[in-house]
Amino acid sequence: MTHMHVAGAIHADTVTPAPKWLQTPVDVNALDPKLWSRTVTRGADGVLRVGGLAVSEIVDRVETPAYVIDELDFRARAREFRAAFDGWDVFYAAKSFLCTTSARWIAEEGLNMDVCSGNELTVALAGGMPAERIGFHGNNKTVAELTQAVEVGVGRIIVDSLTEIERLQEICAERQVRVGVMVRVTAGVEAHTHEYIATAHEDQKFGLSITGGQALEGLLACHRAPDLDLRGIHSHIGSQIFEVAGFEVAIRRTLELHKEFLDRTGVDLPELDLGGGFGIPYISADRPRSAEYLAGAMEALVRRECRGLELTNVPRLSVEPGRAISGTPGMALYRVGTVKMVDLAEGVQRCYVSVDGGMSDNIRPALYGAEYSATVASRRSDAGPLLCRVVGKHCESGDILVRDEFLPADITPGDVIAVPGAGAYSRSMANNYNHALKPPVVSVRDGELTTLIRRETMADLLALDAGYAPDA
Ligand SMILES: *Cc1c(COP(=O)(O)O)cnc(C)c1O
Repeated sequence: MTHMHVAGAIHADTVTPAPKWLQTPVDVNALDPKLWSRTVTRGADGVLRVGGLAVSEIVDRVETPAYVIDELDFRARAREFRAAFDGWDVFYAAKSFLCTTSARWIAEEGLNMDVCSGNELTVALAGGMPAERIGFHGNNKTVAELTQAVEVGVGRIIVDSLTEIERLQEICAERQVRVGVMVRVTAGVEAHTHEYIATAHEDQKFGLSITGGQALEGLLACHRAPDLDLRGIHSHIGSQIFEVAGFEVAIRRTLELHKEFLDRTGVDLPELDLGGGFGIPYISADRPRSAEYLAGAMEALVRRECRGLELTNVPRLSVEPGRAISGTPGMALYRVGTVKMVDLAEGVQRCYVSVDGGMSDNIRPALYGAEYSATVASRRSDAGPLLCRVVGKHCESGDILVRDEFLPADITPGDVIAVPGAGAYSRSMANNYNHALKPPVVSVRDGELTTLIRRETMADLLALDAGYAPDA
């Protein structure tokens, strides 16, 4: 096999070995359907199509890098989650991807929404999400944010500390309004995921500890606070979770606490929120459970625990999916700038494919080793597979987008690369490192392209630079 566009004649067997989970593809043009939004196909011309549009046309119109959201797939996943968790309340975690349009889609599909800052709240409301369907999270909400939430009338505030409970009571008392609250607890679970996205073990900043007794103290404080309407316990154990095992421990421990509170006060809390974190496939080796399976398994666990604890009223349950709705409908598009073979050891090389984005538009691989996949979107190739590392253009060697992926061995500057699963936590975590301009987000549907968020411009950045004097 010859590889015309990379330096010298490179043979796949001299390239660094692939990790075990990454199978050498029989055909580098093939797409693993579970990784992509449902309208994605590779057209007869070899070009990827999404939402009825060829990626080549999208790139002609908006340039790269760019995020593309398949609107019908986003809406379908929202609807399917709601249907699977029938009888539950489903709160879309807005932080995974939020703009006024995504807020409107979520509102139209009948889901509720979680926000984590006053600014997210402003966008959610501007998108038409009714305040009473919004939950407000965060471990350090400011007085201004709590005041804003109370004044617009959010449905519930998930309190995260004893200090916050006092603050919120004061704010409500001054305005003579009552607000619904849930108490965020840590259930002592290590979700099987990366440490930085596992949030229910004890040594971290979120929530009140059940083991330490602060969780019960928080519930009692809310119960005593005249203007706080305590709805129930909230637990979020982490993200990118594939199995119900972590939820099982959280369900047991939160319901034990629920029972303890009932015994102490005679109040049977009406709700229980089990958080989000439902995993999505970023790579072919990922095998997430369906929403139906999770809903059935979680509900059975709740009923079993309630029986065991002799709780006659099963609390109304809620969940908070983020990426499970917004992740797979989105892809990121990049253009290849350089292809470089790097010697790792005698006779072993790695192919570095550099693209026109990177850790500024998707920081997850650099932040916590998140894995992604990629494919050449602008053409079909008859070349064999070459193990590549897709990297960005930033000044960090950790600026990796896709650590290991087989791309066609004739990968060359000018090729467009598509990365699936980029609908969640990509634009929302984007930054301006190296004065990168945040890419636009466009939605596609039935052959129509709509700009949801335009590309940032240098003028946008310079407008913030108080010392910039264009005529000096
Ligand atoms: C981030 C977050 C979610 C959503 O997480 P996903 O992994 O995107 O599902 C849900 N609830 C809370 C409290 C969160 O912080």
